[in-house]
Amino acid sequence: MVVFSRVICLLFSLCFFQSVIAADAQLKTWEHEGWLYGEAESMGTRIAVTLWHKDKTVAMQGIEAVVAEMQRIDQHFSPWIESSELAQLNAHAAKQAVEISPEMSLLINKSQWVSRISEGAFDITFASVGWHYDYREKRQPSDAQRKALLPAINYSLLQLDETGKNGKNKKLRYGHPNIRVDLGGIAKGYAVDNAIKILQQLGVQNAMVSAGGDSRVLGDKRGRPWLVGIKNPRPPTDAATEPVIYLPLENTAVSTSGDYERYFFDEETGKRVHHIINPKTGASAQGVISVTVLADHGLDADPLSTAVFVLGVEKGLNLVNGLQGVDCVIIDADGKVHYSAGLTPPEQ
Ligand code: ADP
Ligand code: MG
Repeated sequence: MVVFSRVICLLFSLCFFQSVIAADAQLKTWEHEGWLYGEAESMGTRIAVTLWHKDKTVAMQGIEAVVAEMQRIDQHFSPWIESSELAQLNAHAAKQAVEISPEMSLLINKSQWVSRISEGAFDITFASVGWHYDYREKRQPSDAQRKALLPAINYSLLQLDETGKNGKNKKLRYGHPNIRVDLGGIAKGYAVDNAIKILQQLGVQNAMVSAGGDSRVLGDKRGRPWLVGIKNPRPPTDAATEPVIYLPLENTAVSTSGDYERYFFDEETGKRVHHIINPKTGASAQGVISVTVLADHGLDADPLSTAVFVLGVEKGLNLVNGLQGVDCVIIDADGKVHYSAGLTPPEQ
């Protein structure tokens, strides 16, 4: 991973482009100065691809393959699609051990590792309480419901069995009847890793792929670093979208977790109810408002950004500073920006 030891703030540069609707109606693509851009909706978020390849047909193939991969991962890991492997696990694994695919095993094992190193701040069983939240409908569990379901948030109750088919697949059993698993804190990071692999196989050397707040850049932007923005978590107006910090990056995964992505305000307390849940309370994590993690792979950066968000500034920085090749930028509730040891903050 190349993380530049400078963090610089730049003005957003406008780029003009021509918009073309490709064969897949969901996918919008356009070209600008030899770069091919693609945008689509998948995994409940906005997918964005930027890549360079001298052969335009290959470039277009790359964008289509990336969007197809995102759709495949959504079908596999969405808890809301009844036929998905995850929905099937949630339906049956509390009653009996269920065989899981190598891909599910990979995501669950990585999740369990992040749970262990973050002392449970990242926990895919958060969904035992988390699925009672509906941010669009402004719905949240009652205090009684939250407390009653809290014992079902505990990653150590996920029992993985190593003796599956071919010695590879594993079985998983939920050790509590009320457990629900959700991979929303790791699946998009995994998806951008797969997307970059697909592009590399097509011979692409310069690309950026984003799935919502999870991005990964391949190579540089042909002679200069990619600039990945960290959004202002409290923009002065709803229409203001300029990032507050730009990170110049090459060959790096970068994931941001923010309390402004999916939220509503509790009518009684006025508190922001958002989508990052503290597994110890079953309520939205407090203390920081944005966390960006840099790592080699999205599979690490994505869950770590969620973990650091829950841990807060001090514990979060400790965790990241102890991990090789990982850095982070944390914006606390007062708007103060904190940088991990591998980054040099801009001069104040
Ligand atoms: P986004 O999904 O907006 O990219 P994050 O990467 O921060 O944001 O992930 C937040 C998602 O992670 C939530 O929508 C939810 O699916 C899941 N999640 C929330 N809290 C936790 C937690 N404590 N541990 C693991 N996953 C979580
Ligand atoms: Mg995340």
